[in-house]
Amino acid sequence: MNNMNKRVLAVQLPAPCPLACGFCRTPQHDEGDPEAVYGAVIRDLPGHQELYLTSNGETGLSTVFRRLVQFATGLGVKISVLCATERSIVPGLCRVEVSLNEFTRPLALRAIEKAKALGVPVVVSIVNDSDELSPTDLEKLADEHGAAGVIARGRQKEGRSATQAGKTLVYQRPGIDIGSFPISAYSELAGFGAPVSCIDHFGRSVALLGSPA
Ligand code: SF4
Repeated sequence: MNNMNKRVLAVQLPAPCPLACGFCRTPQHDEGDPEAVYGAVIRDLPGHQELYLTSNGETGLSTVFRRLVQFATGLGVKISVLCATERSIVPGLCRVEVSLNEFTRPLALRAIEKAKALGVPVVVSIVNDSDELSPTDLEKLADEHGAAGVIARGRQKEGRSATQAGKTLVYQRPGIDIGSFPISAYSELAGFGAPVSCIDHFGRSVALLGSPA
């Protein structure tokens, strides 16, 4: 695999999740092979500038999360985390993306507070199933949570969601280094961000993450 022109390695870890969001795109939480994922990252990460750790559940509950953070830190590779809760917010991350919705709100607010206490930049991630949201709305949401950015993802027809709706919008506060953002690892973000290589929850190289319908 030629990684040299790929800045980001995006990895979907198998992880359980205690929640059941109505539009969850990966309801088969914890499905996959953590050791195969770990092996694939060890093999592929050299040559990348950033490791983007996401999951099919709560990323911090993955059995290999801490080991992967340790490995990437040893290589001097930046680490960003999606589906971040308090468990996966550790010192030194270049960015955490915290999913905020009516199901995750209490967990998300605690995660944002922990990230702020550790000086880790926060991106608030929301699902957008309307065409009403504007860039100004995103900036306001960032202000409300003291966040460095907001990503509003158009709802995809994946997992528990039977419909596709809304547009994808991104806001990044100027002057704050949050690593490579956004990451083109999901269908709604294809073409938006940095070149990316993806590893799925079975340790396979794939074009995109999530659970395509
Ligand atoms: S959307 Fe995220 S937090 Fe909600 S059930 Fe799915 S994996 Fe869990």
